[in-house]
Amino acid sequence: MSPDLPAILGGSPLRPSGPPIWPIPDDDVLHALATAYRDGSWGQYQGHHVEELTRRLAEYHQAEFVLTCGSGTFAVELALRALQVGPGDEVILAAYDYPGNFLNIHTVGALPVLVDIDADNWNLDPRQFSAAISPTTKALIVSHLHGGLVPMAEVMDIARQHRFAVIEDACQQPGALVQGKRAGTWGDVGILSFGGSKLLTAGRGGALLTRRADVHQRARLWQQRGNVVNPLSELQAAVLLPQLRKLDERNAQRAVAARRLCGLVGAIPGIHPLQNEISDSAPGYYKLGLQFDAARFGLPRDRFAAAMRAEGIALDEGFRALHVGRSPNRYRRGTELLEAQQAHEGCLVLHHPVLLGTEAEVEQVAEGIRKVHGFADQLRGVTRESIT
Ligand SMILES: *Cc1c(COP(=O)(O)O)cnc(C)c1O
Repeated sequence: MSPDLPAILGGSPLRPSGPPIWPIPDDDVLHALATAYRDGSWGQYQGHHVEELTRRLAEYHQAEFVLTCGSGTFAVELALRALQVGPGDEVILAAYDYPGNFLNIHTVGALPVLVDIDADNWNLDPRQFSAAISPTTKALIVSHLHGGLVPMAEVMDIARQHRFAVIEDACQQPGALVQGKRAGTWGDVGILSFGGSKLLTAGRGGALLTRRADVHQRARLWQQRGNVVNPLSELQAAVLLPQLRKLDERNAQRAVAARRLCGLVGAIPGIHPLQNEISDSAPGYYKLGLQFDAARFGLPRDRFAAAMRAEGIALDEGFRALHVGRSPNRYRRGTELLEAQQAHEGCLVLHHPVLLGTEAEVEQVAEGIRKVHGFADQLRGVTRESIT
């Protein structure tokens, strides 16, 4: 057995113990848990943690109103309901997006209108979606995905001109800076997630940000059914508070690692990090997105990702595009979807925890890619059965 052989071919993995775990050990979280135990707030309906988190999120985002809830997905539903989106309405979104956003539009009885994405960063492209606007366009959902940012100033100009609402999904990039403002603060409503893999995590949870009193009030009423349905708990809020305090510092650390990694992989054939071309911006990295060209790299995407995972590196295929495998009467095609198709076939995402690791760990990711690339010929012969 050669030590240089890829792990998937029987060599030794670069990271024998696998990808770094998430959440990472954090004494401040431990302290918050111990304190919540001692003061009994862990078991209470109404302690002070949810209230304090709500206040801190509002301060951090300079948002007038914040409403916490049980998940980012539910926060999107609340946003759609609070914006009074319903049957007969259309909602525009990128054809490459989080599937829950598409499904939520159906949940409220509206029709998703799919539009294409930017060729360089595989996020919603404001230069393209005007063609998809119709007299029944009520809202647009826009996500900042995989370290790519959408130029929100341009999006908001078009939205104001055509008088539809914007839901800005910042679940993947809390704390990111978009043209001088925090992600989630450009739209009528911004969405955060505190899911178990996210940058701010409580296992589950989400929040809605807005400067509109009417939207906040309607979202609150929808959540209030004698008791609050799908709430964020006191204990979840308690562990989020110390993480919010560290978010900027950790985002900065991840950004340095992401830049370093992108520099190292840029020369490998068939691998292109997503590009951001907008000024006064700083992305967050829940996932680091890569455009993968199987022909140039010399390996199908699923084999490459499986070979990387065998090395102990958390590289996965991206989302399925929303138009793929769905009945065409479940959506309207607002534009051609050529780039969304490319992203469907060629998007790879690196999970974030390694970006808080050492320089050597970040370099190891690039080393893994080069190693697998060097064995592409042999790996093409590996059958699907043997990699699963
Ligand atoms: C994770 C995520 C959500 C919501 O996730 P929840 O797990 O429901 O909190 C929404 N949009 C995007 C883009 C996401 O990545």
